Amino acid sequence: MNRISYYEQLKVLARDIRLKYGLFTPEVRLSDLRRIYKEYGIKIDLWQRKLRNLRGAYFNDDSGVTVMISKNLPEEPRIFTMAHELKHHLTDSDLGFSYCDQYAKKIEIGAEIFAAELIFPEQDFTAWMEDRGIRAKKCKSETIVHLKRDTKTTLSYSGLVKRAEFLGFIDPGAFARIKWKKLEEEIYGMPIYKKLRLRQKARA
Ligand SMILES: [Zn+2]
Repeated sequence: MNRISYYEQLKVLARDIRLKYGLFTPEVRLSDLRRIYKEYGIKIDLWQRKLRNLRGAYFNDDSGVTVMISKNLPEEPRIFTMAHELKHHLTDSDLGFSYCDQYAKKIEIGAEIFAAELIFPEQDFTAWMEDRGIRAKKCKSETIVHLKRDTKTTLSYSGLVKRAEFLGFIDPGAFARIKWKKLEEEIYGMPIYKKLRLRQKARA
């Protein structure tokens, strides 16, 4: 099977899983992934040590199915990594294990595509853009911030940018220098928790 049809099949699989588990928005939470893992009998092993370039790994052996995830990952990358490892369980479990540090490999790229589609299907992304009249190459960085805020998606800014590039809403690399959290604060103001933290710091 060529790469393109392999990736397309994985997107179909991701949408099937969304349907099966009632994921109807792009706000997929850790609790959703935990629920899916439970149903497939996948154990989660949080990893204390930091390992270079390795966010997660998948094992299927005599002791059962285990996904190891770095404990240091914040919520969004953890959701994404759990979705990535779910793809290994659904399609690569016969390999016995997958160390997720070789990003150029077909099964790894496939896992990234599956994860992005599981969290925020391409069609929904395109529909959001089209509803706002945003055409090819016309997407601004502010639009990505509005999209994230409006849909409450748990797909990260880097995931959203990759998607926008792939679908032709921006040129590749166009947003490489954007500091997303900073831009978000410029548009929507500083979140309350951050203001409180700054106030506490000033008092200390
Ligand atoms: Zn992987």
